[in-house]
Amino acid sequence: MRDYRTFEPLHIVGAEGCRLHLADGRVVLDAISSWWCKTLGHGHPRLRAALQRQAARFEHVILANTTSEPIVRLAERLLSMANGDDAMHWGPGAPAGRRAGHFGKAFFADNGSTAVEVAMKMAIQAHAQCGRPQRTRFASLQNGYHGETIATLSVGDCGLYSKPYEALMFDTVKLTGLAYRSGVDDPAWGDASAQWPAIERQLDAVARDLAAVVYEPVLQAAGGMRIYSPDLLRRLRDWADAHEVYLIADEIAAGMGRCGEMLAHFTGVRCKVPGAAGAQKGECDNGGRIALPDFVVLSKGLTAGVVPMSVVLTTDGIYDVFDADYTDLRAFLHSNTYTGNALAVAVANEVLDVFVDERVLEHVAAVGPALLQGLGELQGTRPYLHHVRGIGMVAAVDIRQRDGSPLDWKKRTGYRVFQCATERGALLRPLGDTMYLFPPLNTSRADITAMISVLADALDHVMG
Ligand code: PMP
Repeated sequence: MRDYRTFEPLHIVGAEGCRLHLADGRVVLDAISSWWCKTLGHGHPRLRAALQRQAARFEHVILANTTSEPIVRLAERLLSMANGDDAMHWGPGAPAGRRAGHFGKAFFADNGSTAVEVAMKMAIQAHAQCGRPQRTRFASLQNGYHGETIATLSVGDCGLYSKPYEALMFDTVKLTGLAYRSGVDDPAWGDASAQWPAIERQLDAVARDLAAVVYEPVLQAAGGMRIYSPDLLRRLRDWADAHEVYLIADEIAAGMGRCGEMLAHFTGVRCKVPGAAGAQKGECDNGGRIALPDFVVLSKGLTAGVVPMSVVLTTDGIYDVFDADYTDLRAFLHSNTYTGNALAVAVANEVLDVFVDERVLEHVAAVGPALLQGLGELQGTRPYLHHVRGIGMVAAVDIRQRDGSPLDWKKRTGYRVFQCATERGALLRPLGDTMYLFPPLNTSRADITAMISVLADALDHVMG
């Protein structure tokens, strides 16, 4: 809060696309999609119109003992999308009805942290109701982030955010030994075999007590915009199947197009499985099997940051564990006031339409690489930049000493670069000394170039 005394918050009066309009007439580029949620930019006319149309009908009605056509449609479309169906089954003209597939049920909540916690609760209860009451523990990945509630802080690995609340948190297993990749062109992109034995040993040690493994697939956002091989997802799936452990994939930041696919999980289909002879990038090289989790959690891009909503998708098999007579007391009793909020549902349906109509994934494939390339060029001429990486529509680079060792965090170098960048016209909130670009998925090439050039100027100003 003290920072605000010396560096005033930006006074926003309007926003459109990736542009924020300030009260003093300045325009600042939102290079981080307002905490990663504005996937289709600010003020998208179709999303605004969908919101207004729904507001004229009804804004919110309790989603218990009620239903409506838009929410049924949204659930069916999200399930189909997450099952990897072709867009004709979840895009604008998608026929009504549920298609059979891996995911079969949707549970709506109102923010990301809560939805991750919903999945954790479902996992524990499902195990207990299947005669496995000892399965109450969770494992998660080093540098993971899953939200701000006590349970999600417990599975997260960002000490800065959780330290003061340790007394409230519960013990979880943090899986270490993950190796990070620069992106899909990294020679080790499709191969986590070197890291797997150590991770597997840690899992084996607690296999009997685990309810689920919680992870951000491929892109660990808040923990430093770190990217790991999707080969790990396949290995986790095989291990979890063998040990009756659930997988909870937190796709809140990585999903909905950010990594170039509707789910970050799908990036795994497009990479070579070690030893799979002749498999080409872009071709389904693992026997058609996508290593899907038991629970997938979406928020942020689900409503493109227009209004809050989150959803947990799960399988019919898990749903069936809760499907019982009232007096059996097996129901999943979790009631958030705003579950299935009608305004959010209307926007989310429109988001899916826009993804298809405006060919958002094609745009990410065409323009996204400019982010990694641009930061790569900055790194080439600035010896204090290290570890450039990127995927889809995100790229990051670390400010370090010349030898790669970390800077003194108390000097707040990233924060100073952020201040300079803001003055030069781009909102580039860092993660410590990691600078990253996470613009709306439909950002133009010209605006990406402008964001990179502001970052370059700001870095030069601070670093000399
Ligand atoms: N998981 C991930 C991967 C996230 O990036 C975030 C938000 N930054 C959350 C969970 C929490 O979502 P929310 O802020 O909506 O509670």
